[in-house]
Parts: sequence; C-alpha cells; structure tokens
Amino acid sequence: MLNLLDADKKEIECFFEAIGEKKFRAAQVQSWLYRGAMNFEEMTDLSKTLRRRLDEEVRKGTISLGGITRLAALSSSDKSTEKFLFGLSDGNAIETVLMRYKYGNSVCVSSQAGCRMGCVFCASTIGGLKRNLTPGEITAQVTAVLRHIKDEKGYSLSSKEERIGHIVIMGTGEPLDNFDNVKRFIEIVSDPHGLAVGLRNITVSTCGIVPMIGRFAEELPQVNLAISLHAPNNAVRSTLMPINRKYPIEVLMPACEDYVKKTGRRITFEYALAADRNDTEQQAEGLIRLLKRYFREKNGTAGLCHVNLIPLNKVEETGLEGSDRRKAETFCGLLTAAGVPATIRREMGADIHAACGQLRLSENNPDKTNI
Ligand code: SF4
Repeated sequence: MLNLLDADKKEIECFFEAIGEKKFRAAQVQSWLYRGAMNFEEMTDLSKTLRRRLDEEVRKGTISLGGITRLAALSSSDKSTEKFLFGLSDGNAIETVLMRYKYGNSVCVSSQAGCRMGCVFCASTIGGLKRNLTPGEITAQVTAVLRHIKDEKGYSLSSKEERIGHIVIMGTGEPLDNFDNVKRFIEIVSDPHGLAVGLRNITVSTCGIVPMIGRFAEELPQVNLAISLHAPNNAVRSTLMPINRKYPIEVLMPACEDYVKKTGRRITFEYALAADRNDTEQQAEGLIRLLKRYFREKNGTAGLCHVNLIPLNKVEETGLEGSDRRKAETFCGLLTAAGVPATIRREMGADIHAACGQLRLSENNPDKTNI
C-alpha cells in the first residue's frame, strides 16, 4: 500500500500515471494533504470521477492518506494543551500533543509505537517497542492536528490563518532509534511548498544514543537537539535510564560538546525533577560542575547549553513523584546563579495525562482512563 504522506512527489506521479491520470495530479493531492485534507471528497479541484476512482483505490488498499485514525482527544481545563490518541493501520496506538503558546502552535509527535529504551519515569516504554513509525505516519500527526485547529475555528482547508509553527519530536519513541524515517519526516514538514516549518523550529529529543548524535550533527545541523539528562551522575542516571549503562555520562557529554562545536548551536538538557531522586541541592551543584566542565565559555557561564527543568507528571505505574514547585524553583535558582541557563517548563496539561505514554496506557487499561 502506498501511504501518500510517505511518498515523495515522484512516487505519487508514478501512481497517477499507472492509473492513467496526468502527473500534475500528484502536486494537487499533496497540497491538499499538507493543508489537512482527510479524504478525496475535500479535494475540490479534482474531478468527481477522479475522486470516486481514488476512493476506490483506498478501499482496495492500494493507497492510504496518512495511515492514522483519531481514537480519542482530551483537552486541558485551560485549553492550552490537547492530547490526541491516534490508531495505526496495524492496531497500534500513538499519542500526539498540541500546545498553544503565545508565539503559536507547537505539536509534539511520536516517532515509534512504544519504545525500547526503558526509562523508569516514562509510561511509553511499558510494553516495549512495537515498531518504527513511517515518515508519513509522523507527518500525518501534524496534518491531523492542523486540521483539528482549522475545524475548531471554522477555517477552510485553504485558510492560512492557522499554522503549525513548531514541532518537537518528543512523544512516544526514541527518534534517533528511527533516524532515517525521522529525517525524512523533517524534510517533508520543512519543505517550503508544504507545511513550511522552519528547521530551527524543530527539536529532536534523545535519551542519548551517542553514535547517532554525531550523525544528527552532520545531517540535520539546523535542527535543535535536546538530551534527556535527568541526573548529574551515573549512579542516579543509570537507575532512571538504562541507556546510561551503555553510554554513560563521560561518553555522552563529549558527544554533546562535539555537537555544539560542529554546529555552533546551543544544546538543551531536559531534566525531569523527581522528588528525592534527582532534585537535591547537592545534585544541582553536581549538574553545575558537569555542565561547566563541558560548556564553559570565556565569561565563565555555561552559555552554550540550557537546562529545561520539567516537574515530572506522576505516572502510577512507576511510583515516581514530581518535585514540588518550591524545590523546582530552588534547583533552578542554584543553576542560574552559577551561570548555567535554566528555566522551569510551564506545566501544561497535567490534568489530561500529558506525560508521554499515559493516554496510550489508559486506552489499553480502560479502568484507568478518564476519557
Ligand atoms: S523517555 Fe523517551 S526514550 Fe525514554 S522510554 Fe520514554 S519514549 Fe523512550
């Protein structure tokens, strides 16, 4: 089956030629898909006969339009965050989150169904990795969210009033474990003739697969990189993230330093604050020493990195509790006073299970869902 969001223009042209149609239909169909069209009926510049023909091809299983179906959606009480559960054609489910910021719409997409990395604070890894998502399945999450926004506001598909300005690849899955498909997805969404999301507005978040960090710097130098660090030393990090046993901090940090040198870009460290696990003053001091060792600038600050502190959303299955606000502020204050740029991420959507993988788990365990 040809997923039209997986295919490039040439492949779609071949499909149209094979069914006896003109090649230029490919550009028309692609343009509709990137605007959020969900079926051929909406592609009004195609003749009715052709639309019926294409519907028939979908029924026969020759083509699909993205390969995802919306199963559930939850909206936070302040409407800033919406979380979607999408079903894939093979029965797996993935999560996508829309965050509405003052500066525009940001979408957090999943790159795999499940994950094999085993981070203890993460619900996405419970059940392991099911499979990699294709570039089209990742793109379809963005176009489905764009469509949702347009529908909600009553805008037509061709309206330019609303767009997706930022994308973070931080949902279910480890993006560098599915690098080729993620790279292709980034090419699709950044194409100026499509969704036109700026490369500098796209962020890939990794748990720290060291050999892939070098490849990322080479092949996607303009895309932002975030590293899930979550601890200043191996003793704590290995208890939270099994990947640390393979690529410990003394291997990970030089790779991050190389990334900064190669790209000239600032690197972000994600640090989820878990009560009494990684949020003490001692650990803040350890983090300052670590980051200054690798990212100290002439003025004495660690200006080439940024620490994003995330108050952990409680995940019942892991028993970990998030740090309280006062602890998070103390931790953040220690870092910034020492010249390590740090901010506390705005808590968005805790009331809708915004932490990675929680909606998907709820779907699998209906007793736990509040949908
Ligand atoms: S935090 Fe990311 S890498 Fe770790 S288990 Fe969850 S999805 Fe996988």
